[in-house]
Amino acid sequence: PTPLIELEKLRVDFGGSGGRRVRAVRDVDLTIYQGETLGLVGESGCGKSTLGRATVRVTEPTGGTIRYLGADITTLRGAHFRQTRAELQMVFQDPFGSLNPRRTVADIVAEPLLRARRTPRPEARRIVDDLLDQVGLGREAGTRRPHEFSGGQRQRIGIARALAPAPTFVVADEPVSALDVSIQAQVINLLADLIRERGLTMLFISHDLGVVRHIADRIAVMYLGEIIEIASRDDFFAGPAHPYGEALLSSVPTLSRQPRRERIELTGDLPDPAAPPAGCTFHTRCRYAVDRCRTEAPALTEVAAGRQVRCHFPLLPVKGPA
Ligand code: SF4
Ligand code: MG
Repeated sequence: PTPLIELEKLRVDFGGSGGRRVRAVRDVDLTIYQGETLGLVGESGCGKSTLGRATVRVTEPTGGTIRYLGADITTLRGAHFRQTRAELQMVFQDPFGSLNPRRTVADIVAEPLLRARRTPRPEARRIVDDLLDQVGLGREAGTRRPHEFSGGQRQRIGIARALAPAPTFVVADEPVSALDVSIQAQVINLLADLIRERGLTMLFISHDLGVVRHIADRIAVMYLGEIIEIASRDDFFAGPAHPYGEALLSSVPTLSRQPRRERIELTGDLPDPAAPPAGCTFHTRCRYAVDRCRTEAPALTEVAAGRQVRCHFPLLPVKGPA
């Protein structure tokens, strides 16, 4: 597989010197391969959204490197960045907040196309009509305004807008979390179809493992600004290798034919991200924690092919010399 996005030591800090500084994203190394959907999971406040936004520079990183198709785009500016930006798009949780109520749906969807690609208007019009058809709203929707649509339909508008400049990579940040459960599956199926038809690469952010399971090829788990586990979807759902992943998965209802998993309660709240615990940052909530965990921070380590874990005692047989 060919890397599309490569993050190296990516860091995002909030807050100034002297004050409360939150390291929202802490030295993340992550590769997203062409054509895959990577599910980024974790509790709210763990830095998933910030990492997603920083990957496409909607939020500027404080440190580290972003490579897109091998080229360093971390500090790209001007016309070159505008071109790259067109290829890296975002779908947000609440499209309503970002859809201008006074503009027509056609204008809203066309906007990134006109701005980022400088597409002539007649051509933009054709692209918008086709997109509105593809997302199931129909081109007639173009003359209406956002408030005339339901939540699920508005998310379809948000998706059409993100796809208008023909991106190669889309960050979808909790795209169905604000929707009724009955509508969630429709929007997920639409996204899955669009990914397949357009050969899109996607970073799909969600706190909901049940949703991620339907769409992701691989899973990355975040905790307090760090990636703590990366695995294929099947490996992860067969049994996470990190105690945090194990606890997260144990809280997802299983299908009736599957063996019942023991439910593992996560004790305590997410620690203050401005003052993460020493050693393994998960030690305050880990049921396997020992003294070493309180002082020595584990590195993200490959424990099997395609499988990385940040834990001194991964829940897997570790291959190689003992
Ligand atoms: Fe738990 Fe220790 Fe592993 Fe951290 S390093 S997840 S505290 S067992
Ligand atoms: Mg978020």
